[in-house]
Amino acid sequence: MDNFLFRKDFSTNNYFGEESLPEFGNLCSQYDNLLVFADEFVFSLHQNFLQNILAQSRIDYEVFSLPRGEDAKDIDLWKNLTNKIMEKGLSRKSAVVAIGGGAISDFSGFFASTCMRGLDHIIFPTTVLAMVDAALGGKTAINNKAGKNMVGTWHFPEAVFFLPAFLGTLTGRELLSGLGEMVKHSILGSAELFEELQAFLEIFEYWQDFDKESNFTLVEKIFPLVISAQKIKMEIVQKDPFQHNLRYILNFGHSAGHALEALSNYKLLHGIAVLQGMRTELEIGLEYFNFPQKDFELIVSFLDSLLESESIKSDYEGFRKYLVRDKKNLKKSTIISLPSGLGKFESASFLKKVDPLWFANTNLFRDG
Ligand code: NAD
Repeated sequence: MDNFLFRKDFSTNNYFGEESLPEFGNLCSQYDNLLVFADEFVFSLHQNFLQNILAQSRIDYEVFSLPRGEDAKDIDLWKNLTNKIMEKGLSRKSAVVAIGGGAISDFSGFFASTCMRGLDHIIFPTTVLAMVDAALGGKTAINNKAGKNMVGTWHFPEAVFFLPAFLGTLTGRELLSGLGEMVKHSILGSAELFEELQAFLEIFEYWQDFDKESNFTLVEKIFPLVISAQKIKMEIVQKDPFQHNLRYILNFGHSAGHALEALSNYKLLHGIAVLQGMRTELEIGLEYFNFPQKDFELIVSFLDSLLESESIKSDYEGFRKYLVRDKKNLKKSTIISLPSGLGKFESASFLKKVDPLWFANTNLFRDG
C-alpha cells in the first residue's frame, strides 16, 4: 500500500487595530479583486469607515450586501450568489472579504471554501462574539432544513482584522452574547480573565442604557479583554485544529445552550444561551462530577448577574428532545464538556456522559 501525505497550510494572520490596516493593503497585492460580503446593517452604520478600508486594497472590489444576521446563512442565497458571481466571470485570484458578525463570517467562509475549490478568506469581525469565537478557527457553515450549521466546511481565513471601532454600535444584548463566549473562555483557561470580566459588569450596566457615544468610549475597556479571550480559544485550536479531541472542550455550555437556542426557535442569542448552558452544565458538574463547590459559587453568581435581565426558563420535554439531537451526542447518550475548576480542565477526561434526566433537576426547570 502507498501512503501519500498531503499538507495544507492553515495558518491565519491576526491583526489588531486601525494601525494594522496597511497590512490589508499589502495582503491584497496578491489578489486580482475582492468579493466583499457585508452585513447590510453594519455596512449602513459604518459606511464611510468601510469604504476607507476597502480603498486601501488598491484593487477592484464589489460589495454584496447580505441580510442581517442569521438570514445570511441561507442555502438558496449561497446558490444564487455563486451563480451570479460566476456568470460574470471569476478569477482564482479573487479573495472573499467578510464584514459582519459570525453569521457573515460563517456564510462567506463557506462561500470562499466552495467557490472554485477554495478562495482566500479575509474577515473583519464586527461583533464581540465574532471577534472571540466565530472568526477564529476555520469553521464555516450555512443552515438547511435539517437545522442550523448542518452544512459546513473547514476553511481557515488568510487574515482576520480586529477593529474595535465596530463595537460601539452593538446593542446591550449583542454585547452580552459576546460576553457569554468570553466568560466561557475565561472559565476554561484563565481565572485572571474571569476576574477582569467580573469587574466589567458595572461597565456592562452602563452599556445597556444604550447611549452610543458613551459606548464608543467603553470599547477601549472591552477590547483588551476580547484579545485575552480569543488567545485562549486560539491556543486550544492550535493544538487540535480539526476537533479530534481537545477542541471539544470549547463546547462547554453548548449542549444545554444549543437545546435552548433551538427551543426558542433561535430567538435566544447564541452567547446568551451559552451563559445559561454553562450554568446548567455546572450544576450537573457539582452534583455528579466533583466540580469544586467554591468555584461553582463564584462562577454561578457571576452568570446569574449577567443573566438577570433574561430570566430564561424552559420546559423539560421540549428541551430534552433537542438535547439528545445535538451533533455531539453518540446515539442516545448525552455528552457535555466540563472544566475541572475555574480556569482549568483535564485534557484526558473533560468529556462527560450524562443522563438527560439529570438536567430535569437544574434551576432551568425550577420555578421562582
Ligand atoms: P450575527 O452575525 O448574527 O449578528 C448579530 C446582529 O448584530 C445582526 O443583526 C447584525 O446586523 C448586528 N451587528 C453586527 N455587527 C454589528 C455592529 N458592529 N453594530 C451593530 N450591529 C451589528 O451574530 P454573531 O453573534 O456575531 O454571530 C452568531 C453566528 O455565529 C451564528 O450563526 C453562529 O452559528 C455563528 N458562530 C460560528 C462559530 C464558528 O466557529 N464558525 C462560532 C460561534 C458562532
